[in-house]
Amino acid sequence: MPTGPLARILDSMENAAADAARPAPRLVAVGKTRGVDEIAALAADWARLRPGATLAFGENYVQEAAAKVAALDGSGIEWHLIGHLQSNKAAQAAALFDWVQSVDRPKLVTALAAARPESRPPLNVLVQVNVDGEAGKHGCAPGDVPALAAAIAAQPRLALRGLMAIPEPHPDLSRRREAFAAMRALHEALRADHPGADTLSMGMSGDYAEAIAEGATMVRIGTALFGPRPKA
Ligand SMILES: *Cc1c(COP(=O)(O)O)cnc(C)c1O
Repeated sequence: MPTGPLARILDSMENAAADAARPAPRLVAVGKTRGVDEIAALAADWARLRPGATLAFGENYVQEAAAKVAALDGSGIEWHLIGHLQSNKAAQAAALFDWVQSVDRPKLVTALAAARPESRPPLNVLVQVNVDGEAGKHGCAPGDVPALAAAIAAQPRLALRGLMAIPEPHPDLSRRREAFAAMRALHEALRADHPGADTLSMGMSGDYAEAIAEGATMVRIGTALFGPRPKA
């Protein structure tokens, strides 16, 4: 039995899902600040543990991701942008990534759609929601989700896949669960209008079990897979 961090996390994700009588979510391994060698090693572990399944990898910065995508060309990794996207990087992101999880304003919708290469399938898009209304945080207001979702759904070069959130890491776990539950309600309302929006991306190293209990279909995990990030 393999017992590295990846195996342990996949196990605990499955246990959390089983406890909540939900299907196991997808893992997005988060690679910010990690080198190509670390990512390749994780991809090798993944191939042993989940033969035939696609590994999803999350990156925060377009520039950093571009170098990694080039270096790992042909590895079969599915690349997700999970960090804030500046409008002037949208064209590059539309060409580079398979998913963009951080769409939070109409300008990004049109920029990504216009730049998605015809040679590639429609870009998978999540609407990022500032679920606890923290000032100065990225993500649209919960009330703006329907309009933004409709704008994405109207773009043939984009595929509306659901919602993403990074709730405030409140020390009180019950407060975090409230944010996750609010996201689940928003996601259920979205799916009523857009059945293809099957994804709810929430939960990180410190709280993925709670997120899964509240209905996450995708979790984004860095530290628990790779260890603490080196200080910049
Ligand atoms: C860094 C990051 C994660 C992963 O955080 P960990 O605590 O290292 O698991 C998930 N989502 C986003 C948007 C991030 O920036």
